[in-house]
Amino acid sequence: MSLHDFLNAQLAQRHRDQLYRQPWPHHGKQQPLLRHHGRDYLSFCSNDYLGLASDSRLIDTLQHASKDYGIGSGASHLVSGHHQAHQELESALAKFLGRERALVFSTGYMANIGVMTALMGREDAIFADKFNHASLVDGSLLSRAQSQRYAHLDMAALANLLARSEKKHRLIISDGVFSMDGDIAPLPELLHLAQQYDAWLMLDDAHGLGVLGETGRGTEAYFNALNSVPILVGTFSKAFGGMGAFVAGSALLIDYMIQAARSYIYTTALPPALAEVNRHALHLAQTESWRREHLHFLIDYFRQQAKILNIPLMPSITPIQGIILGSAERALTVSQALWQRGLFVTAIRPPTVPLHRARLRITFSALHQKEQVDQLLSALAELLSPCFISTDTA
Ligand code: PMP
Repeated sequence: MSLHDFLNAQLAQRHRDQLYRQPWPHHGKQQPLLRHHGRDYLSFCSNDYLGLASDSRLIDTLQHASKDYGIGSGASHLVSGHHQAHQELESALAKFLGRERALVFSTGYMANIGVMTALMGREDAIFADKFNHASLVDGSLLSRAQSQRYAHLDMAALANLLARSEKKHRLIISDGVFSMDGDIAPLPELLHLAQQYDAWLMLDDAHGLGVLGETGRGTEAYFNALNSVPILVGTFSKAFGGMGAFVAGSALLIDYMIQAARSYIYTTALPPALAEVNRHALHLAQTESWRREHLHFLIDYFRQQAKILNIPLMPSITPIQGIILGSAERALTVSQALWQRGLFVTAIRPPTVPLHRARLRITFSALHQKEQVDQLLSALAELLSPCFISTDTA
């Protein structure tokens, strides 16, 4: 088969399955109102949970820092790309998370694959929640370790797999807050099982950090288990509004990552100006607790009103609120009808979520207002009513 025929066949299949996707451009900043072809759309699908991506103070920091440091880091960290701004960000992160050290990566995807491939090899086994983020799935594949996936949040299944494993090293990996479902991993049980079976524990708290806990220390804070996870990964691309990521842990862990994490070693360091912005964002996220308070107010309000309006939500207390619609076609129909009403909520379809679990993934930001949530609620109530669409999820 020619390359041309192969590509055509692949794309045609995706069209037939309603799984074809394309990014589309918007103008202006990332904030609840996104401008597209001269019209404003109220967005409920960004991960900018605290509304920091459009913060004017951070924009100033980026301007000043890029004037001082330039726009690029010029090289990878171990050549000449490591800047004082990275160093200071790492110290601020370690302090925020109560860890000995932290290490900055260019993205969360790279942090995950870097950490996993550095730690795990052919003789080892990785125990992963089935709904873990794609970067954790890819990290597992790249590591060549045996992959053991347990049903979502099923701690009995995890215990069972651990009890039967005879691999040299065992690493349990979970999202803290699950990116598509918004529910929270049972951290106390994960810690307990890691101890019981002499396994290592890694938590990817991309969606929990900044959002959960009094000062935003994430899933650990939610469970009153600060400093408990030995390998903690987070990203600056969600609540902190920017870009870049990190792993935090013991000085020993970080020292080893610098030697062995290939996605740290063999890539250009994050621009120092972005490191500076991330440090500022980290400070704002910790100190401006009104952002978290307002966000959680909106989440509670949305859930209460959805219940009254018979809008079927998935269980979640985080800014990620899902409505399962079943087929990709149904999810697309509702998403497009919302779009026509000036509301932007992406339809999430397989392979991002399991087959027959296509959904609307609504996310809230501290910049949303209650009236805007009302607008979303009334559109959802109309569109999910049996006269518009069947909510049968078969
Ligand atoms: N982990 C999780 C749980 C995520 O949701 C994401 C982003 N969608 C990542 C890691 C990757 O982070 P980044 O966007 O910084 O690469």
